Amino acid sequence: MKQSAVALVLVAYAARMSASGVDCITTSLRDNAIVPITSERVTLSGKARSSFPLQIVLQGSFGPRPCSAITGSIPDVNGNCQLMVDANSTWSTSLQLEPLIASKVQLDQPGCNSVEILVTPANPNDIKKRPRSVFQIDWTPEGERKVLAIAADTLPSLSNTAEFMARVKREFMAVATSELAEFDIAIGTASASNTVHILEDVVAGTFAWTKKPETPDCGDLFQNDVTEVYVGTIADDIHSRPIWAILKRTDGEATRADDIGHMLGIIVAHEILHASGLLQCVWMQGDATGHNDPRFERGRGHRYQSGQVLLDTFAMVPPEVLIGRSSPTTVTRSQLANDTFAANYLRLIHPRP
Ligand SMILES: [Zn+2]
Repeated sequence: MKQSAVALVLVAYAARMSASGVDCITTSLRDNAIVPITSERVTLSGKARSSFPLQIVLQGSFGPRPCSAITGSIPDVNGNCQLMVDANSTWSTSLQLEPLIASKVQLDQPGCNSVEILVTPANPNDIKKRPRSVFQIDWTPEGERKVLAIAADTLPSLSNTAEFMARVKREFMAVATSELAEFDIAIGTASASNTVHILEDVVAGTFAWTKKPETPDCGDLFQNDVTEVYVGTIADDIHSRPIWAILKRTDGEATRADDIGHMLGIIVAHEILHASGLLQCVWMQGDATGHNDPRFERGRGHRYQSGQVLLDTFAMVPPEVLIGRSSPTTVTRSQLANDTFAANYLRLIHPRP
């Protein structure tokens, strides 16, 4: 299912800067915030060192906003709204926004001359604090056997399978928990309303899948998500893609256990973002499967980072990012960060108490 792009992007910039310095623009919205807003008036303001025309360009599928929505502005020859800022003035203008989430407000860019607000229409009821989200991790015997099969295939031998498996689970839990530590999301083995099954299955092109109800649960209203992790697909990927040569037969058992545990931790943390409502919702604006996607970034703030953030599609995540190391001697493994959009969304839905 494909969602159409519905973002409204507002870019305001000073067309000419003073020789002595730049005129910084501030706004009434928090920097880098997702703010559920209903008919909110946003104020852009700044201190001017020289006179300059402030041009406000509105882009998006809503079409251009009328200049009357922006206090004191007039249309320029291109139909953009323009405001003349006087030298030595403390200038200010405001505009009315419809019910929206402002997902990114970027200020003080290099040169300090632009402000960018990425706003997304949403039902404010979708973006509300929810109860703590709890996930049960269900290690199936078949899934465990497939984990051991990866070890057997990528190491000369395995001395103690029970110890190996215990280490995989420890690393898995540490990574998944740490990736989501900022939010009120708990992961454990006790029975819980959301479940993650770790299976031996092969599902072509898919490491994991979070099943959703008929209507995607955007905003995480229901705690009933079922995630399946396909260790068989991961094993096939390791065998079929030469880039996995990063797994050397000389790595040692501890390294391999941490490789597999780390990879599963990252995958499950990613799926929990989906289970928390980051799906193909209109306001989420991901790709057809609910991921950050470069197609949506033209003229907007950055979310998609070529597999370097948790909600980028896994097709773009290189193996060394999944296992958190690019060399056998890496001591502290790297983790994936959340992009600002996902992090701010989760702070609203599942804030830490
Ligand atoms: Zn995904």
